[in-house]
Amino acid sequence: MNADLHCHSTVSDGTLSPEDLAARAKANGVELWALTDHDEIGGQQRARAAALALGLPYLTGAEISVTFAGVTVHIVGLGFDADDAALRQGLAATRGGRRERALEMAASLAKVGIRGSFEGALQYVGNPELISRTHFARHLVETGVCSDTSEVFRKYLTEGKPGYVPHRWARLGDAVNWITGAGGIAVVAHPARYRFTANEEHALFTEFMAHGGRGVEVVTGSHSSLEATRYAEVALEYGLLASRGSDFHGPGESHMDLGGLPALPGTLTPVWTELQHRVARPQ
Ligand code: AMP
Ligand code: MN
Ligand code: MN
Ligand code: MN
Repeated sequence: MNADLHCHSTVSDGTLSPEDLAARAKANGVELWALTDHDEIGGQQRARAAALALGLPYLTGAEISVTFAGVTVHIVGLGFDADDAALRQGLAATRGGRRERALEMAASLAKVGIRGSFEGALQYVGNPELISRTHFARHLVETGVCSDTSEVFRKYLTEGKPGYVPHRWARLGDAVNWITGAGGIAVVAHPARYRFTANEEHALFTEFMAHGGRGVEVVTGSHSSLEATRYAEVALEYGLLASRGSDFHGPGESHMDLGGLPALPGTLTPVWTELQHRVARPQ
């Protein structure tokens, strides 16, 4: 099945509205879709309504920012009840520090001669609670400081670089509990991105599962085919459900389009087999 369970709208750091994403997913042959904005479920109703109107089955989604062993790890939640109070409070608390962080990033960039980047980044923000590094990156490209967003991240927005501000996100156990407490399944997003040692990665999966986490992204726009093969083995080794998602942020910005990923290896149990009762289906 062409499931795409990871992407972003203007409600976080994507460039398309939830409605435009639904239409694009449908046009690209997606058969089960989830919008997974960073730390935010404000787009869920719109995404679900647009998907169902197009005849596209829908799962609720979010991508929660977590700090684990000093590293930012992303946990995708799928199929939760978007009205759950603890989940909503947890996400609001996780979003809470983003404005302060952005002001610090701008102050830090000003020290290397890049002025006005907070106001500049805000021009790209669709949700005032969700200013992210991506919005700074778009501004720095638009003003000619860098030629593309990956150059911005390489030179300015990653650890050790002038615009980087360390930040404490949610705790792993809290994020997993918010998702599972709301009836959903927690999934480790794009594990190859973290560059953990084998021991650190083992600690991540062990703790994640001890808190009730059940899935891992295997096929994602952030993994090479070699990395997908490696995390297919990890899924089998730990007995984790496998997820699949493009991590699409917008045309021209993401190399993987909605619905464009290869299939999950047949040896794995897809996460959606355990979420059938949570899928919203067109009438
Ligand atoms: P934040 O949550 O504000 O720390 O921003 C994280 C977001 O920045 C990610 O979700 C990606 O959309 C984007 N991002 C992170 N690293 C890179 C990179 N190397 N190139 C392009 N975008 C990136
Ligand atoms: Mn993003
Ligand atoms: Mn992510
Ligand atoms: Mn993402």
